Parts: sequence; C-alpha cells; structure tokens
Amino acid sequence: MVGDVKLNAEIKDLTRIERIGAHSHIRGLGLDDALEARAVSQGMVGQTAARRAAGIILAMIKEGKIAGRAMLLAGQPGTGKTAIAMGMAKALGDETPFAMMAASEIFSLEMSKTEALTQAFRKAIGVRIKEETEILEGEVVEIEIDRPATGNVAKTGKLTMKTTEMETIYDLGTKMIDSLTKEKVQAGDVISIDKASGKISKLGRSFARSRDYDAMGPATRFVQCPEGELQKRKEMVHVVTLHEIDVINSRTQGFLALFAGDTGEIRQEVREQIDSKVSEWREEGKADIVPGVLFIDEVHMLDIECFSFLNRALENEMAPVLVVATNRGITKIRGTNYQSPHGIPIDVLDRLLIIATEPYSETELRTILDIRCEEEDVEVTDDAKALLTKIAQETSLRYAIHLITASALICQKRKAAEVEIEDVSRAYTLFVDVKRSMQFLIEYQEQYMF
Ligand code: ATP
Repeated sequence: MVGDVKLNAEIKDLTRIERIGAHSHIRGLGLDDALEARAVSQGMVGQTAARRAAGIILAMIKEGKIAGRAMLLAGQPGTGKTAIAMGMAKALGDETPFAMMAASEIFSLEMSKTEALTQAFRKAIGVRIKEETEILEGEVVEIEIDRPATGNVAKTGKLTMKTTEMETIYDLGTKMIDSLTKEKVQAGDVISIDKASGKISKLGRSFARSRDYDAMGPATRFVQCPEGELQKRKEMVHVVTLHEIDVINSRTQGFLALFAGDTGEIRQEVREQIDSKVSEWREEGKADIVPGVLFIDEVHMLDIECFSFLNRALENEMAPVLVVATNRGITKIRGTNYQSPHGIPIDVLDRLLIIATEPYSETELRTILDIRCEEEDVEVTDDAKALLTKIAQETSLRYAIHLITASALICQKRKAAEVEIEDVSRAYTLFVDVKRSMQFLIEYQEQYMF
C-alpha cells in the first residue's frame, strides 16, 4: 500500500515534467496591425527596430511578393537574434515552411556540404497541393462564412455539419441555415449569427448594403448562401515541402526516412524529376509554390564554398527567404585568409538586408527575466529578480536565464516556495559565468594540460 502511494506519487511527478525550451516563451513578433512593435507582446521585449524590420519582411513573404531575398540579424550574443527568428516562424503559421539550422551542422561526414544546404533550402520551400474530392456520405463538411458585400471580404469563421446523404455544397449550406433559422433561405440571402448566443436570423438580401450592417459590430457574424452551380466536390489543400517530396520519391530512402530524420543524399535526377512534375502541376493549376524561410544561425561558420552556393541558390525562382544570424564582427571568411564583416564575403553581404540587434536596457532585461520566471513556473521575490537583472547586466542574459532554474532547485531543496536572494547568490557561486571562468583559467593556467 505504502509502495503504491509512492509509485503513484512518482508517476504524478513524471507526468508533470515538461521540457521548456530556451525560446518557448516566444509566441510571435509582438507587432500591431500597422506592423509597429509593441514594447512587450507575445513574449517579446524591446528590440523594436529589429522586430519591426522582421515584420515587414514577414508581410512581404505572406503576400508572396519576395523570393530569394536574404536578411542578416547581426548583434552581440544574447540580443535576441534567434528569438526574433523564432518569432517569425510562429507568426508565419503552420502553412508556411520554416527550416532552421546552425551553420556548423553542414560539416557532417554523411553528406556533402552542398547536399546539406540543398536539403535545407528544399525544407523551406512548400508546395500547396490542391485536390478535388467527392463529398462522401456521413462526412463532416466545413462551410466558410464570409462577410459579404463589403468589398474586402474577411473570413470570419467556419460552420461544420455532417452530411446524411450525398448532397451538394449548395444543399448543405441552405439545409444548415434552414435548420438553424427555421426559415427558407435562398442563395444570396444574408443571415447573421450572434457569437454569444449562436442565434441565427435571416436579414434579407438588401441588409448587407445597409448602414445597420456595420453597426452590428463584431458580435455578429454573417454568412451568405453559396450561389451558382451546384457542386458535388470539395477542395482539399495541403502543404508539403519539396524536401518531403524528394525523400518520398527517392528509391533508396523511402518515406520512412522522414521519420528517422536520416535521409542521406538524394540523387540529382530525383530532384530534377520532382521539379518538372511540380512545374507541370503549377501550369495545370493543381499546385502553388509557398516560399518559406530558411534560418541559418552562426552563419560565420559557413565556408567560402557554402557562400558561393548560397549566392547561386538565391537566384532560383522558387528560393525561400534566407535569414542568417551572427554575433561576429570583422573576422576571417572560413576557408580563406581574408577578413570580412561578420566573416561573410562582400558579394553575399551585398545581397543581405542587415538588421542590427542592440543590447538591452536594465528594464528590458528585467522584463525578459520576468517572462522567463513565469514560463518556467518559478516564483521569485522582487529582490531576487533585481539581483538576477544585475547579473544579466554584468555577465549575460543567457547566464541569468540559466540561473532561474538553478535557483529554483536550490529553493526547493530548502523547502521554500519562493526564490529569494540567497538562492540566486548560491546558484551564482555554484555555476561560474564566462568572465569568472576565464579569470580562473588565467590564474590556474599552469595546472591545465597544454
Ligand atoms: P547568440 O548570438 O549567442 O546566438 P542570440 O542573439 O541569438 O545570441 P537569443 O538566443 O535569441 O540570443 O537570446 C538569449 C535568450 O534570451 C533566449 O532565451 C531568448 O529567448 C531570450 N531573449 C532574447 N531577446 C529577447 C527578447 N527581445 N524578448 C524576449 N526574450 C528574449
């Protein structure tokens, strides 16, 4: 019995463990509708100029206006370059591919550098495939609700209903509305749905053009019955990446390799065949290309051959938007003896829109640490937060963020509920930051191996 209780407690403990990533608090870029950065929003703090610039690029990506552009996030360590890239990924949503890699990953023994980069590029290019299928009996069909007659039709929601027999989209729409309003509704009629009560009423055809329409405000939603030809088909859309299509069609790999993540090299003929198939689909209106984003962190780790590959790959009409980041200043271009800003060759630099990230103010550091404490579910006293902020200013933001977890464990050990100054100071003495570690190495240099 006692054993059972213990076991239960252990199981409970295990299920409570959730891994929290370094950027788990980032939920978007935190911009308003005019693409201005809000001071604190969606987990993002400060760095407003860089976030705004990233937002403008996002808007262009979403409108499908740019392909093959590249931007560089340059700034000191811990100034939120990766955080901004993560924010972009979140803001893009699930339909637009976002591939992320560290430049050092391309130096693997299993595949050539250009193969690794090609795969990364193709992971960032989506193909939106449109398929038409019959509606089957008993299937659940979604019908979109638009705000009609305003010119700028905005999608406001979806209604779902189950078909009981083979029906057309048109039949489904009217049947659903009929059953909800108990009134006969015809194609072209406008009905309103009250968001709170779900009550539906028929408003008549002229209503959409009347002033009352706007006066009803956001609590009311409208649906216009589908007009025109009766259809027995519905359109299904899904987005896959070019890389996924490559892997599935590669005879040596097969689609299981996608789950293993170990796709090996893919033959050039396979890619050529797929590219021509995709362009065929595009011509037939069966598919569109969705250029996504490829984010390469620590870009100074790429060498001169990789940079020349990037230059060429960006010329491709299907190319994704390339976002690279580095914390290096003037340094050697890998594979050469030449120095260049950020270790990037001048011709590549020339293509890049450069966004600089700035060091944070004390208040911004405090707010980021606040957000992280909440994210990690750690209660911290104001004094202890002030100490963490001071540590972030004098060492680094990343080190201070690490101390949150360490201090929380120390606090737990003394069975207290809230992290206090003493817990933070103890963690600070247990885990050495870079500056103190270097000092230590200098002092005790002769005791280390050469
Ligand atoms: P490096 O050059 O060392 O790679 P970086 O500029 O990419 O550094 P990040 O890894 O983005 O820095 O930031 C360090 C930590 O601080 C991360 O946990 C990140 O989520 C958080 N962070 C940085 N900037 C912000 C911000 N503006 N808002 C919220 N969190 C941030």
